[in-house]
Amino acid sequence: MLGLERFDVLHPFGSSHGLTRIIRLAYSEDPSYVPLLRRAYELWHELEELDGRTLLYTTGNLEGGLPDGPVFRGAVHAAELHGLPHEVLTGAEVGKRWPAYHLPDDHRVIHQPDGGFLASEECILAHVRQALAHGAELHWREPVTGWEPLEDGVRVRTARAEYEAGRLVVSAGSWASELVPELAGLTVPERQVLAWLQVSRPELFTPEAFPVFYLELEEGKYYGFPEWGIPGFKFGKYHHLEERIDPDGSREEPNSRDEEVLRSFARRYFPDGEGPTVALKTCLFTNTPDEHFILDLHPGHPQVAIASACSGHGYKFCSVVGEIMADLAQKGESPLDLSLFRLDRF
Ligand SMILES: Cc1cc2nc3c(=O)[nH]c(=O)nc-3n(C[C@H](O)[C@H](O)[C@H](O)COP(=O)(O)OP(=O)(O)OC[C@H]3O[C@@H](n4cnc5c(N)ncnc54)[C@H](O)[C@@H]3O)c2cc1C
Repeated sequence: MLGLERFDVLHPFGSSHGLTRIIRLAYSEDPSYVPLLRRAYELWHELEELDGRTLLYTTGNLEGGLPDGPVFRGAVHAAELHGLPHEVLTGAEVGKRWPAYHLPDDHRVIHQPDGGFLASEECILAHVRQALAHGAELHWREPVTGWEPLEDGVRVRTARAEYEAGRLVVSAGSWASELVPELAGLTVPERQVLAWLQVSRPELFTPEAFPVFYLELEEGKYYGFPEWGIPGFKFGKYHHLEERIDPDGSREEPNSRDEEVLRSFARRYFPDGEGPTVALKTCLFTNTPDEHFILDLHPGHPQVAIASACSGHGYKFCSVVGEIMADLAQKGESPLDLSLFRLDRF
């Protein structure tokens, strides 16, 4: 197995940096993600055991907001359909239990105890260590410049060499359509900004006192975390300013407009988490038109498998997406139901 990455082992140019990513089980986006999530949880715990360190921190999660919105309704539907433990709470009940939260009382959320966050860069390093320990060859700073099908495999060209292999898995994030032109217009990069703001009452923002959240409010959809790693309340607005971006173009640094969009959210809903700015970082989403992933074989070349697991919510799945890609590459199929993720739905 040969892995090729154009940048360093950890880098800030794609979608996976920034210390933490939310994992949640009662999936409001579509209940058919739940079986994948169950397997993802198993594989994260397996990786923790193999690597001997904690990667997944369970805090519980709060999902919902506007009582008639798709996030609250979708989360309840997924929880009920799959028999997941959960509670439905009003905004006031949330504030009583987790006082950092100041949600309007007519809002509704579900609390799901299995939610939490993954230490995203630690997870990458753990996967890398385990891949190396199991005999994989990994090359960093070696951009793939193209590939072509062979009768019985593929030839891959990089800035340094050419390789032949029986199977190819393309998981190039925001650069996917450069390597698979059939994805043009289907995997669209979008600029995101994340904030860490100082908290005035740290005891309300510890992982024990603060469940992660995915909230749909009148201003839009937001996600957030307890303090961990970088001091401060970390959160972002889903789709931020809806700015399409060229992943190879110059990266615009976070600016005062970005900051105000995020700060105004904290001011209203998390006033104890609206202190001075600790950090602002940009990151990329890679959106499909329906915001579901693409996990499939290449339409013309079945020796090539494609993973575009982003649209802003793919990190939690990367353990199971790895297994799915291995199954697609080796056996041409996966035991999991991938019908939501087929390329021919577009
Ligand atoms: C701000 C933000 C917050 C998010 N929050 C969450 C969350 O809370 N929970 C969640 O589940 N998901 C979340 N997501 C989404 C999640 O992070 C992404 O779905 C996931 O990181 C995508 O991983 P990826 O491997 O597809 O992309 P990437 O991590 O970008 O990896 C693709 C890699 O391919 C490499 N590459 C590209 N082209 C080439 C080439 N030609 N040759 C060699 N290498 C190449 C790139 O350098 C890159 O390292 C968030 C995303 C962002 C941006």
